[in-house]
Amino acid sequence: MVKAIARINSRCYLCGLTDLALRMIQITLPDGTVKEYQKGSTPMDVAMSISEGLARNVLSARFNGTVVETVSPLLENGSLVLFTWNEAEGKKAFWHSTSHVVAQALEELYPGIKLTIGPAIENGFYYDVDFGEHSISEKDFPEIEKKALEIARGKHDFKMRGVSKQDALEFYRKQGNEFKVELIENLEDGSITFCDHDTFTDLCRGGHIPNTGIIKAIKILNVAGAYWRGDENKPQLTRVYGISFPKQKELTGYLHLLEEARKRDHRKLGKELELFTFSQKVGQGLPLWLPKGAALRERLEQFLKKAQKKAGYEMVISPHIGQKELYVTSGHYAKYGESSFQPIHTPKEDEEFLLKPMNCPHHCEIYNTRPFSYRELPKRYAEFGTVYRYEQSGELHGLTRVRGFTQDDAHIFCTPEQLDQEFKSVIDLSLYVLESLGFDNYRAQVSVRDPEQPEKYIGKIENWEKAERAIINAAEEKGLEFVIVKGEAAFYGPKLDFMVKDAIGRNWQLGTIQVDYNLPERFDLTYKGSDNELHRPVMIHRAPFGSMERFIALLLEHTGGNFPLWLTPDQAIILPVSEKHEKYAEKVFNSLENHEIRALVDERNETVGKKIREAELNKIPFMLIVGENEEENGSISVRRHGGEDLGSLTVNDFADLVEKEISSTLKSF
Ligand SMILES: [Zn+2]
Ligand SMILES: [Zn+2]
Repeated sequence: MVKAIARINSRCYLCGLTDLALRMIQITLPDGTVKEYQKGSTPMDVAMSISEGLARNVLSARFNGTVVETVSPLLENGSLVLFTWNEAEGKKAFWHSTSHVVAQALEELYPGIKLTIGPAIENGFYYDVDFGEHSISEKDFPEIEKKALEIARGKHDFKMRGVSKQDALEFYRKQGNEFKVELIENLEDGSITFCDHDTFTDLCRGGHIPNTGIIKAIKILNVAGAYWRGDENKPQLTRVYGISFPKQKELTGYLHLLEEARKRDHRKLGKELELFTFSQKVGQGLPLWLPKGAALRERLEQFLKKAQKKAGYEMVISPHIGQKELYVTSGHYAKYGESSFQPIHTPKEDEEFLLKPMNCPHHCEIYNTRPFSYRELPKRYAEFGTVYRYEQSGELHGLTRVRGFTQDDAHIFCTPEQLDQEFKSVIDLSLYVLESLGFDNYRAQVSVRDPEQPEKYIGKIENWEKAERAIINAAEEKGLEFVIVKGEAAFYGPKLDFMVKDAIGRNWQLGTIQVDYNLPERFDLTYKGSDNELHRPVMIHRAPFGSMERFIALLLEHTGGNFPLWLTPDQAIILPVSEKHEKYAEKVFNSLENHEIRALVDERNETVGKKIREAELNKIPFMLIVGENEEENGSISVRRHGGEDLGSLTVNDFADLVEKEISSTLKSF
C-alpha cells in the first residue's frame, strides 16, 4: 500500500505529470461531458459510474468509432458511446451474440455440421450452416429454441481472444470445416480473434453483449437455401433465421406484428387488388402496372404535379439512357459502374450508353443549356423519371426492391442565400404529401458532417455550415420533431430524411431532401451574381415519395389496402338485389360518373350477401345496394366498407358525402 502511494506521487522526468495522471484516461461521453477513469477501465465500468440502471442495460459499446466489447479495457483517451436495447447498435450486438448461442445449440443437436457465417441483420440474425447428412425443417424449431435458451440461461460470458493464423487454421482443420478455413486464409495474421462462451468457440471480430443470460426469448423464424459466399457454383448451405429478445413479452409482440405484416404484405394485396404484377418473361424486378394500379399511380402523380406547379416547379423530361461519359462526369460511374447494368453499345459508332441510374446528371445538363442570372433563380426542374439499378436477384422484393423504378424527382438550383427558403418550401411540400396520404406519425433525421473528419467531405466549410444551419433552422421553424446525426451526411452535402411510422409501428424512410455542392462543381454550373461575377449554384435533390413503386408498396402496407378515398381504385360498387334492378343500377352508375365518382356495377347473378362479402375483400369504400324500394324512391342504400349502414340516400347526397370526405383528407396545397 505504502509503495503504491509512493508511486502515485512520483513524477515523470519528461513531462512532469504524476504517475497517477499517467494512469488516467479521459473519456468523452456523447453529451460532451469528459470524465476521468483509470486506464484499463471497461465500458461496463463507465456505465456503472453513470448509473446502476445503465450498467444493467448496456449491451454494447463503441470506442473512438470502433465496436468494442463491454469488457474491453480502454487504454487511451477517447469518445465512448454505450448502447442499450433502445439503440440499433445494442440490438445488433444482442442478435449477433444470440447467433453464437444458436450455433452452439445446432452443433450440440446435430453433431458434425459445419458452421460458416452468422451475422445480425435488420431484424434478428441468421447462421449459414452446412448440415451435411442432417436436414432441418419447421418441426425442429422448438427443439432448437429450447436448447439455445438452456444455453443462454447458463449466463456464460462472451470472451474474446486473439489467435495466430496457424492456430486458427488448425482449430478448424481439425473440425474439417473448410468454410471457416477459407475465411481465415483470407485474414491477416495478428488480426484474428475467437470468441468463447460456455464450451463453444467461434471465429469472430467481436461486438457482444456481456453474457448469454440477458437473452430471455429466442425464436427460429425460418430456414432457406443459401450459397456459400452467395455464389451458385459453390456449395449450398442452409440459412437459419432467428430473432431474440431480452423479454418474452417482446417476442410475443414481435410475432403478432409479423402476423399483421403478413396480412398487409403489399405483394399479396397488390395481387388481390389487381394493381401490379411481375413476369419472368419480362424480367425479375421489373414491375408491370395493371390498369387499376396504373390509374392509381397516375392519380398520385397528378396530385404531386398540381402541388409542385403551385410551388414553382417546371416539368422536364429526360431519356432512359445516357452516354457513359455523363455518369463519368457525375461520378456515378466511378461509384456504381462496376456493380450496375453494363453499358449498351451502338452497333456502328461504338458509343457507350448506360441505363439511367439517376436523373440528376440529366437535369444538370438541362440547367446548362443557357446562362442564368441570380434574378432567375431558383430553377426547379421536376420529372417523374424512371431509373434502372441493378440489384441481385436474391435482393429483389416486391415493389420495395426493384430494378426499374420511377422517382418523383426534382432538382432545385439556387443561390446559397436562397437555400434557407428553398429548404423550407421543400419541407412544406413533403409534409403536404405525408399528411394527404394519412402518414401522420413521422419525424425527421438531419444528417450533418462529422467536423472531426473534414477530409471526408467536399465543398467549402462555410457553405457546409450555412447548409446545415439552413436545414436545422427549417426543421425547427416547421416544428418538426427531429434528430441530428453527426457523420451521416453524404460526402457532397447534408440532408434531411423523413422517417415514417406505419399503422403497425414499423419505421420507413420516406422523402429525402439533400443539399449538393458536388454536382454543380462537376458539371461546372454557374449563374451570374449581382456582382456580375460567375458563381456556383447550390443544388437540392428531393423526392417526397422517393419512388412511385416503393411509396405505393408502403401505402398498401400502411393502409392494408384501404387507400384514402381520393386515391382508391374503385370508390363505390353498385349491387343490384336482382336482375330486375340492373337498369336502375346502370342509371345510378351514370349519375355517379357525372359526379366523377369511380364506381362499378356487380351484375353477377349472386346473392347480395355474397356480393357484399366480395366487395369487402376488394376493399371498396362504399357499397350501394339497389332493389325495389330504392328504385321506387330514386335512392340508394349505402353501406360503408367495414359494415356501417348509412341508410337510404339520393345519389346527389351520396356525391356530397364523398366530396366532403375527400376534401377532409385532401387539402389543396
Ligand atoms: Zn461474435
Ligand atoms: Zn438527384
